[in-house]
Amino acid sequence: MMGALTDRFGRHHTYLRISVTDRCNLRCTYCMPEHGIDWTPPQQILQTDEIIRLARLFVSMGIRKIRLTGGEPLVRRDTVDIVAALAKIEGLETFAMTTNGIGLAEEAARLHEKGLTTLTVSLDSLRRERFQAITKRDRFPDVMKGIEAALAAGFAPLKINIVVMKDVNDDEILDFVAWGRNKLVDLRFIEYMPFPDNHWSPGGLLPYAEIRARISEHYQLLPVVGDASAVGKEFTLAGHIAHVSFITSMTESFCGTCNRLRLTADGNIKSCLFHPAEKNLRDVMRAGGSNDELAGLIAAAVQAKPAAHPPVEELIHVENRAMIAIGG
Ligand code: SAM
Ligand code: SF4
Repeated sequence: MMGALTDRFGRHHTYLRISVTDRCNLRCTYCMPEHGIDWTPPQQILQTDEIIRLARLFVSMGIRKIRLTGGEPLVRRDTVDIVAALAKIEGLETFAMTTNGIGLAEEAARLHEKGLTTLTVSLDSLRRERFQAITKRDRFPDVMKGIEAALAAGFAPLKINIVVMKDVNDDEILDFVAWGRNKLVDLRFIEYMPFPDNHWSPGGLLPYAEIRARISEHYQLLPVVGDASAVGKEFTLAGHIAHVSFITSMTESFCGTCNRLRLTADGNIKSCLFHPAEKNLRDVMRAGGSNDELAGLIAAAVQAKPAAHPPVEELIHVENRAMIAIGG
């Protein structure tokens, strides 16, 4: 299928990640620069009707999956309203959200009821003190309550994102498997990626092959054959309910089958997580621009998408937004 969302390398873009805020109630060291970021003033953040208009336009152009992210999407007061509106867009097949789990205990059932189909919760440690050291906030019990509520609400499988950092939490890989193995979860072990001022160093990266080998010493991992554009290598865990996935952005990047576009909270379309070029859709909308004009800008961003992100040793020097201001 050729179309405005097909790039120079024949990649069809069917997946849009929308960041609804750059604010967050955690300060994860691997995501948020130590000196903080300058929060985008509220008037520069996309309003609900602007998000809905763009989401409809993207779906009319071929997007089939949308994920809401942030910052922390649940800190935005009207996120549930955004969910309710986007869930009604005809043609949207998968509607997901990634959250740190704070506030989820209160919202999980409503999010499910309003039409969110898939949920991911991030959790990098099962130990309260370590959770606090990584996130700079003592909110571990809230996250665990959020996970329970999400499972009870019917998000199945519930995806759990775990960023693996050598000498920080890599000693918990097997603890995570033991914790989740008989739950309806997909444990997604993510390779640690470099972003401006996020403490990344080559020594902190634990390659996927090693994470997998450590699990394989104790469990039999059986590959799940799935969507070719999925970023995770997914496995079942023989004799257990959970799935285990590996997000290998650093050691085995998946640029060749990338089908993702990103919309930042301030209304910029970003064609690649590691490519600084962006086109602002917010200002065009606010100046009275038509959907055709917006579609033209989106198509131009897709055409400018690079074939692949630079190798890991160069990524450290790439000028980019902080992860918290992109949304993963
Ligand atoms: N606040 C939400 C959360 O934490 O789930 C959503 C936004 S967060 C930026 C999206 C995902 O990116 C999270 O799962 C987080 O763990 C992941 N992430 C952030 N920084 C990362 C890094 N340096 N390397 C790998 N994953 C990272
Ligand atoms: Fe906030 Fe998510 Fe980034 Fe942690 S990973 S600082 S929870 S946006």
